[in-house]
Amino acid sequence: MENRRFSALQEVLHRNPVEPVAPSSQISEYYGSNVFGYDAMKEYLSEEAFLMVMNAIEKGSTIDRKIADQVASAMKSWSTNKGATHYTHWFQPLNGTTAEKHDGFFEPAGNGRAIERFSGSQLVQQEPDASSFPSGGIRNTFEARGYTAWDPTSPAFVFDKTLCIPTIFVSYTGEALDYKTPLLKSLHALDKAATDVCQYFDKNVTKTIATLGWEQEYFLVDAALYNVRYDLQQTGRTLFGASPAKGQQLEDHYWGSIPARATAYMRDFEYECHLLGIPVRTRHNEVAPAQFECAPVFEEVNLAVDHNQLLMDVMEKVAIKHNLRVLLHEKPYAGVNGSGKHNNWSLATNTGKNLLSPGKTPKTNLQFLTFFVNTIMAVHEHADLLRAAIASANNDHRLGANEAPPAIMSAFLGDQLSKMLDDIEKSVSEKKMTPEQKTALKLGIGKIPDILLDNTDRNRTSPFAFTGNKFEFRAVGSSANCSGPMTVLNAIVAEQLITFKNDVDALIAKNVEKDEAIFQVLKKYIVASKKIRFEGNGYGEEWKKEAQKRGLNNFNTTPQALEAYVSKTSLKLFEDLGILSHREQEARYEICLETYTKKIQIESRIIGDVVMNQIIPSAIRYQKVLVDNVSGMKNIFSAADFKKAADVQLDSIKEISERVTIIKNEVEKMIEERKKANNLDNAKKQAHAYCDKVKPCFETIRYNVDKLEMMVDDAMWPMPKYREMLYLK
Ligand code: ADP
Ligand code: MG
Repeated sequence: MENRRFSALQEVLHRNPVEPVAPSSQISEYYGSNVFGYDAMKEYLSEEAFLMVMNAIEKGSTIDRKIADQVASAMKSWSTNKGATHYTHWFQPLNGTTAEKHDGFFEPAGNGRAIERFSGSQLVQQEPDASSFPSGGIRNTFEARGYTAWDPTSPAFVFDKTLCIPTIFVSYTGEALDYKTPLLKSLHALDKAATDVCQYFDKNVTKTIATLGWEQEYFLVDAALYNVRYDLQQTGRTLFGASPAKGQQLEDHYWGSIPARATAYMRDFEYECHLLGIPVRTRHNEVAPAQFECAPVFEEVNLAVDHNQLLMDVMEKVAIKHNLRVLLHEKPYAGVNGSGKHNNWSLATNTGKNLLSPGKTPKTNLQFLTFFVNTIMAVHEHADLLRAAIASANNDHRLGANEAPPAIMSAFLGDQLSKMLDDIEKSVSEKKMTPEQKTALKLGIGKIPDILLDNTDRNRTSPFAFTGNKFEFRAVGSSANCSGPMTVLNAIVAEQLITFKNDVDALIAKNVEKDEAIFQVLKKYIVASKKIRFEGNGYGEEWKKEAQKRGLNNFNTTPQALEAYVSKTSLKLFEDLGILSHREQEARYEICLETYTKKIQIESRIIGDVVMNQIIPSAIRYQKVLVDNVSGMKNIFSAADFKKAADVQLDSIKEISERVTIIKNEVEKMIEERKKANNLDNAKKQAHAYCDKVKPCFETIRYNVDKLEMMVDDAMWPMPKYREMLYLK
């Protein structure tokens, strides 16, 4: 019998690194050349059109139809010069991927000829059939139309000979059906709120820009092995697999020398990224074997999100050319670390200042303190919503599972800043502070970040950590669209800054001097937000107990965590800031529940298939070898000798039967639970049933399958083993 695993292993054995296509010239020579960015626009647009587009990007002003026609025509000329034959609106529906529908530029011109055409109306708006994208009940089936609308703040680009135009995606009645629409609204709300607060410190600030630098973790696996692991193929993770003797315990992979095949792959996907203006700059091995990370230079949030979505697409396509598969799933392998996507977030002003970076002067330091404390206060007020924003079936394997950040939301500040906040708490009394006290406090702040920037004072177990000049939201999953968590973070900080401004203004109205008023309000927040601050080990059992004492929630599963999406406070937050209506937010909640259910359902089906079609037949085949051997021995040995000789085999035969029985019974039970869950009448009940009734069966099945893997003749085992997949030449 042919064993697919062995054919795949043969293929891997003879694999050589694929020669990268990336040129050896300097990156600056080709960087951004497939982007319709500043330079291309300068070259291809009239002065008038150029200024109008720049205004739209910087100030959000609208572009009139005449200019849109000009921009479309310029984009067409530019992109056809780059070899593009098609164009597409490129958007981010709520199924987690990016969507594109390519249309040719050409139009029949009669006489069997065609001309290339692309008009302003095609650029600005399109009406894709929305019926196959998740809408959470917003879209009625009889009104399937939705429309996509150009987002000029994220530049068009050419990828795979197609001009891609970033767009938002909304229903025909105007409700958001994508990630980008609420993200843009949250950025707008935050800009307004932060700029207003900046006025206390610097009248020149007229705009604030939220910034994001993501760190993308991923695994690589040989394509041949991936192709015969149906679980990996269909669910993105291995549902079975005994731990290899050597996993990550020696910690010899982190920042180790990068395997040749991985380097060749990295060079190529980075090259594609650089053509697209994605500023990826850092690459290194991660903790688990065959796990890696890449990180860019940070950018404005909307652009950074688009770039991350595009990056994941590029990574998948380039991997195939290298006979590899990239695994973006949060937990492809049990027993070794999973993958996250740290979201480094900060706020910059149009005057070039990072608001989360203290400076050398007392004035900028009070400004820093304001944004720093307000962010912590925002996390305190909406910790559960932040948790909801990172909830997914995949991420459940990381959060709270003794690795990467726990499911309990807390903020890490570092010793120095914690002490600073404690000092403020003590020194600002109801009475006035002396001018000397204030100056001393403000100057003290300036000395702190250097310590944090120097990696030593970093706590790696916190889900939300201050790292010197930015907050790092570490609990985001590796396959997630960063928009979800970023929309929430922007929104909660925006709301908090509005509250802050009201509080300070109220004191100023009572003739309290401005600095004094700011200090008093910050002190109030420092006291109020104390329970969210945690400097210790976030993985430990003690923290769970401590957190419970403090009244912090620990939602271990997605269905539980998602509740916060539709709490009164969350709905009010999104509505007050004009980000999402109740109906839109409730629809999102439904979609998240449905996605969760479907993911667990698919995993459950794959488990059933693989167990019945591959595992049990292999175990029985091996058992037959043992049985034949034992019956043979019976013929040649005396009764007494036989007992001694066959003892071990008889034990194995029995164990195989027992394990196969347990597996089979558990699969049947799982199928029953699935049926019951499918019959429930709402999305919430279904998600909970899949979480609490179906999913627990996975563990028993897997445990026994993995035991069989260790018993059955290696030559008969049908699926590539962990030790084979977690190794890259
Ligand atoms: P690490 O956290 O692994 O030590 P770095 O300090 O280099 O790594 O930062 C990681 C990410 O944080 C990078 O993508 C970087 O661009 C980003 N980053 C740095 N400063 C900011 C900022 N002000 N706003 C947003 N992201 C930032
Ligand atoms: Mg980091």
